[in-house]
Formats: sequence, structure tokens, C-alpha cells
Amino acid sequence: MEKLRFERPVITRINAGVPDKFGRGANIQSISTIDDIEVSELIANYGSPLFVISEKKIRATYQEAVSAFKTRYPKIQFAWSYKTNYLNAVCKVYHQEGSWAEVVSGFEFEKALANGVPGNKILFNGPDKSDEDLTMAISHEALIHIDHFDELYSIIALAPKIGKKAKVAIRINMDTGIYPRWDRFGFNYENGEAWTAINKIMPEPDLDLMGLHTHIGTYILTPNAYTVAADKLASLVVRIKQKYDHYIKYLDLGGGFASKNTLKGAYLPGTDTCPSFDDYAEAITAALINSDIQHDHMPTLFLETGRALIDDAGYLLGTVLANKRLADGRRSLVIDIGVNNLFTSFWYDHQIVPAGIVHPDSEDTTIYGPLCMNIDVIRNAIQFPVLEKGNQVVIKRVGAYNMTQWLQFITYRPNVVMIDENGKSHVIRENENHATMNELERVPEHLKEIYL
Ligand SMILES: *Cc1c(COP(=O)(O)O)cnc(C)c1O
Repeated sequence: MEKLRFERPVITRINAGVPDKFGRGANIQSISTIDDIEVSELIANYGSPLFVISEKKIRATYQEAVSAFKTRYPKIQFAWSYKTNYLNAVCKVYHQEGSWAEVVSGFEFEKALANGVPGNKILFNGPDKSDEDLTMAISHEALIHIDHFDELYSIIALAPKIGKKAKVAIRINMDTGIYPRWDRFGFNYENGEAWTAINKIMPEPDLDLMGLHTHIGTYILTPNAYTVAADKLASLVVRIKQKYDHYIKYLDLGGGFASKNTLKGAYLPGTDTCPSFDDYAEAITAALINSDIQHDHMPTLFLETGRALIDDAGYLLGTVLANKRLADGRRSLVIDIGVNNLFTSFWYDHQIVPAGIVHPDSEDTTIYGPLCMNIDVIRNAIQFPVLEKGNQVVIKRVGAYNMTQWLQFITYRPNVVMIDENGKSHVIRENENHATMNELERVPEHLKEIYL
């Protein structure tokens, strides 16, 4: 019989995990499989930490979102927000489902082209579009969402040289009751700037005003903000028709739907508080249907939903490195998942659970990552079962903004695996190693030799 490990007993004041006002205590689940593959098997095959993406979940969530909108308003088109997760395999799943591409840089534009998206199915957003980027976009007949007047003037100058009409929309910022207001992107609605931009575009022979765009913010918990936004865009459609006899072909309501993650400091979990796709769809489509836009000229509704589509499909698996007591007696756990790989831990309290069956006792615990940096905290105070070195953990809802915003810092970035609909796993991005990390570095000749 193995000798039991002794741990010095401590007495600590209970300061977390007491039942909340709804009488719920700490509810610690565990996850031992992802799409029927054992977590331990995934880690054994691909290493730890490890990102895992469920193709099945991506498709199911996408179809749920499409049906929420399509059942209310038939002319809809999603465009996948590349910056949310631009791993090619992920983008390709969305493109197979029929989603266009929404990009915010020349790099993302090139990625979308390389993924096989025709230029005329790329929406090009963002404040940073160089003349080269704009030339590429105009040549490929992409839909350019103009952010500011300087960009508009560049397009007016470039289009005749390329010999193609530039297909444009303007990004519009507005007061929708969401504060702080995102007024740094696009043209303002209330002060008339958006209308001015429209009046500058309409007479231009080489520009074709196709759409109006807004992206009011992210993690928006009040669907009504979208009603206000759709209403304001619709009023411009009517005004453009009156003045120019020109029909706007599409309204793009951007992204911003909340995923089911829990914001830091939130009282209740995101799974209880976040609106559903139906709530958002009702808010937007009702505003369009009830607007003064003529029935036979209803614009196509574009959506650039990012986090709400993919967050749930991503998991981050890791391993316990150590178990220790802090000076005040609190239990802490050191795991091999750091904030360098979990960028969204700065604003979410991610749900982290043990993989497999664990010790029935739980304790107030702080979970640290492996970095030699004080900021590397995965969860601050969580009722967590007592785990041991080598036990495995799963962090849920990491599909959005982690595999793009991750930092190469101290450790190599890990493998990313996708589990297909038949339960087969595929590496879709290899882990970094010494060779890949040194690929771009150059050492000047005089520093080649060192003398110790
Ligand atoms: C980031 C971004 C999105 C996606 O936003 P989510 O909040 O993830 O849905 C959509 N459109 C634009 C213009 C963006 O910048």
C-alpha cells in the first residue's frame, strides 16, 4: 500500500464559496471527455497545455444563430470575424457553412483570400487600411467599410487608377445607450458626420455606396441597443432613397453579442444572464421590419458575430504542476496554463473544472499559471477540489480571442487540435519550438562568438 502524503493542517476563515443569495453552493463539475475523446488521451497525444476545438459545436452554434435570424428575416448573411479566431481550419468551417469573411487588416484580407473566399465576399473593416490594402480590396471587389474621411479621400484617389468601381459602405457610430460609447470608429450619426460622408460618396462616379455598417461594442447584454442601432441605420436608408433615389443593399449590424462567459465581478454566471440569439435577432429584425424602408427594397442584413459563435467550441486543457499553501494558509494551485495563452482571463472568470473524477472535498483556492510573473492568475478565489500534481484540468469557453491574442511569452504556444464531426482529432496549429521561435531572429556577425 502506498504511503499517504501528509499535509500540514490549516484553519482558514471561509471567504468564498458560501451559498449565494439564491442558496447555491459551489457546484463543481468535472469534464473527462470532449466530443467523446478522453481529456487524458488528448494530452497524452498532443501535450499539455492544449487547445481543443469542437467542429461539431462550431457548426451547431452557427446553425442556431442563422436559424434565429432567418426565421424572422430571410435576407441575412453572416461574415466570420477573422480576428476572433483566424486559424485557417476554423475559418474554413465557417466558410463551409456559408459565412463570408469580415477582416480588419491587410493580413486578415490575405488570409481570407488564401482560404478561398472570393474578394466580393470579404467585408473590410478597421481604421488601418494602407493604399496597398485599399488597392487590393478594390481590385478584388471587396466591400470596403470606410472608417474616416482620410480613408474616403484615399479611395476617391485610388479607384480611377485601378479602373474599377469601389464598392463601399461607411461605418457609423452612434448613441445606443451603451457607454462608454465606441465613437472612435467610423462616422458619428447624431452630429451629422455620417450624413456628410454619405453626401460626399454619392456624387463620386467611382464609388458605389452599397451598405451601412455599425459595430456598437462587444459583449452587449442589452438587445435593445441593437434595436436603436437598426432604427438609426434604417432612417438613413430612407433618407438616401429620398435624396438620391438610391437603395442601400445591406445593413451590417456588426458583432457584439455576448458569449456565455462570466465577466469578472459579475454576480451571476454568464450562462444565466446572457441574451440568446433569439433575443438579439428579435431586437434587430423587428426594428427593420417596422422601419419605413419599402417592403420590396429591404436590405440584406449582415452580421459579423464573433465571440458568441465560437467561445463555447474552444477548450484549454492543462495539468497541475504544484499544490501549495500561501503565507495566509490559502490553498493555491499552479497549473501549466498561463495568461499568455489565456488572454481573455483579464476580463473573464473562466469556468475551470477538473478532468475526471476527483477528491470530494473542495477548498477556497487561487489558481496560478506557470509564468514567473505576479499577474499570472487564472482564477482568484474559487471553490476547487483538492488536486494533485499531474491531475488535469479543463478551461471552458476559450474559443474567442485567445488563439489570436495569445502572447509568445516565456513558454512556447501549444498545439491546437480540432475534433471533427466523426470524433477524429487533427492538429490545426502546431506548437512552437526552438526552431520556429528562432526563424525570424538574426544575430550580427560580431555577436556570433561569446566569451565566458
Ligand atoms: C471585433 C469585431 C467584430 C466581432 O465582435 P464580437 O464582439 O466578437 O462579436 C465584428 N465586427 C467588427 C468591425 C469588429 O471589429
